[in-house]
Amino acid sequence: TDSLLDRPGLSLVAAESKELAEQRRILLYAGLSVPLSDQVYLRLDGTTVEVEVASAPIVLEGRPAALVTVREITARKEQERKIGRLSRIHAVLSGINSAIVRIRDQQGLFNEACRIVVEQGRFAIAWIGLVNPDSSRIDPVAWSGAEQALLAKLEPRFVLNPTGPRRGLSATAVAEGRPVVVNDVANDERVASLTNEHRAHSIASLAILPLLVSGEVAGVLALHADTPGFFDEQEMKLLVELAADIAFAMELIAKDKKLNYLAYYDVLTGLANRSLFFERVGQYIRSAVTGRHRLALFLIDLERFKNINDSLGQAAGDTLLRQVAQWLTAKVGDASVLARVDADHFAAVLPQIRQEGDVARLIESMMASFLQHPFRLNDAVFRVSAKVGVALFPDDGLDADGLFRNAEAALKKAKANGERFLFYTQRMTEMVAGKLTLENQLRQALDKEEFVLHYQPKVNLVSGKLTGVEALIRWNDPRTGLVSPARFIPVLEETGLINEVGRWALRKAVEDFLRWRAKGLAAVRVAVNVSPLQLRNEGFIAEVRQAIGIDTHAAEGLELEITESLIMEDVRNSITRLRTIRAMGVRIAVDDFGTGFSSLSYLSRLPVDALKIDRSFVVEMTTGPEGLALVSTIINLAHSLKMNVIAEGVETEEQSRLLRLLDCNEMQGFLFSKPVPGEVLEAKFLTLPASETGVAANS
Ligand code: C2E
Ligand code: CA
Ligand code: CA
Repeated sequence: TDSLLDRPGLSLVAAESKELAEQRRILLYAGLSVPLSDQVYLRLDGTTVEVEVASAPIVLEGRPAALVTVREITARKEQERKIGRLSRIHAVLSGINSAIVRIRDQQGLFNEACRIVVEQGRFAIAWIGLVNPDSSRIDPVAWSGAEQALLAKLEPRFVLNPTGPRRGLSATAVAEGRPVVVNDVANDERVASLTNEHRAHSIASLAILPLLVSGEVAGVLALHADTPGFFDEQEMKLLVELAADIAFAMELIAKDKKLNYLAYYDVLTGLANRSLFFERVGQYIRSAVTGRHRLALFLIDLERFKNINDSLGQAAGDTLLRQVAQWLTAKVGDASVLARVDADHFAAVLPQIRQEGDVARLIESMMASFLQHPFRLNDAVFRVSAKVGVALFPDDGLDADGLFRNAEAALKKAKANGERFLFYTQRMTEMVAGKLTLENQLRQALDKEEFVLHYQPKVNLVSGKLTGVEALIRWNDPRTGLVSPARFIPVLEETGLINEVGRWALRKAVEDFLRWRAKGLAAVRVAVNVSPLQLRNEGFIAEVRQAIGIDTHAAEGLELEITESLIMEDVRNSITRLRTIRAMGVRIAVDDFGTGFSSLSYLSRLPVDALKIDRSFVVEMTTGPEGLALVSTIINLAHSLKMNVIAEGVETEEQSRLLRLLDCNEMQGFLFSKPVPGEVLEAKFLTLPASETGVAANS
């Protein structure tokens, strides 16, 4: 090659081993070629040169001879070394990545990273320093291949932004956020004053890489190599990646710390969670004790939140929760007295009650403005109402736990009673005890057959003819007389007794229908109300089948009223169940339509025959144009889906006239008749043939 030709051949002295020379001789004498081999030749001036040697036997002037080709391969060798080094760094990278997965504490990770860099990457020294904002220094926190004392000598000025003459290389890397590379330590003026130290530890090149965590330089990774020119472009690319990986791990670890944040805060809303809230309430209680004042704990429940979540999707639900948190924070002006303690439960503490009546006034005004606040979800405006349970310190509890539990009890009671808010008081405790008695009484009522069904007629709005009846349960309490379902259905549901009572109602309604039919009376369909708990019950479909199994005509006499909110709770499951029930010939009506927050578009998916417009809409129909428009929309939509529409709670002629104009099919309400006992229904409404039942009037 050129470089060999440059120099006289004599300047090369083969420094190959004796064995190799002997091998070559034997091969050549046998007339065979000697395969290529890589060797290091020594020049006369003492430097070395890497060569590739090939030898072939030839005959020269009749005598055996050898043609030896020697090619300088320094460049190729260099290339190979580079590849070797790069693959070592790849190994370092993967070693560090697996360390990142394994090691969850920062110090452990740093130690391991330095060790891997030195052992697998064959660097002479590796160290990691962290920026210490307090001291404006870079403190070495982990190292390998050197003692800490040496680090100080190699990079003595860890100081950032020094006022002194020159800053260290790592300070430069931090300041500039870019790697600093010195490929020739001996001749680089940036490290000139330290050359002796470097030479003493045979450090020929070095690189200092900034560790960027969340966009800021958090520290440096410093690498020292024993050959000059070690850090070329390719190498640096990998090393930058390495530094990025370490920085990424630092970020992960910081996030882990954030998990502690998660232990105290609700991520969705940023409010305190239950644990932190309890802690804070505990503190407020202590200061209430010393300050001799009372405090109040509120538990706030968003009504129908589950429906929003189910019908509009969880993202919308999340948005609503965030908006509610924002609203509360803005209203209260201090997020530290607020918390989200459950899916749709918020809590608040009023640390100091100054005057009796403060609390009630506060809730009253808060609730009024909450109800008016337009929450925006999926481009639509929603009003959300809430229920609140309140417990007072020291009246209702002496610690956070006790107060919270009693606020919960008050809230539960408020929900059951339809109150917007309730205080927990001693009297309430008594009422809970009273409920236990009620529960016992209801159990007995079932045994003693004290439940009765009353029937309320439904009539066609045009012809005025009877189209069906709704079965409404009552408890005939021998001590007090008829008890309204609003009083005992919640208790039946809480205790699970609703399943038995519901089964009874179903059987009784079918029985009554069949009896009327057998008597030749106007046997109209009987609609039976189904509690959410019943439909969710696995055995419910079998119960329905059993109830209609007693007669081939039973199915045509039965309709089930299922509240919209229940269907929306689990749409897919509901749809399957409703299909099964309908396939038996039983009709299905959506009860209380309009209260369940379902988007109207859901309707098309529901396998139902009829839709009952809730009484509240019928009332609103005559109080404003929006109410009328809404009812009109519901009716049109239902008709386009071939559903029958029944208006509930029609009390006035005006309502009935409007409904007729809007093309509503049927109505039910006090205007035509209150719910009446079976005998009254029979005598008053069923005695005429179905075709002539239209003229019956209010009782
Ligand atoms: P619902 O299914 O919405 O029943 C309609 C309620 O409105 C009935 O109250 C009825 O008496 C009342 N009502 C009818 N017309 C008018 C009117 O013109 N004006 C007013 N203000 N009210 C009217 P009721 O009988 O007290 O029943 C209350 C609720 O109890 C029912 O609401 C239903 O959800 C539940 N319920 C009744 N019977 C049963 C039953 O057998 N099983 C189950 N699970 N729930 C039942
Ligand atoms: Ca009903
Ligand atoms: Ca209803």
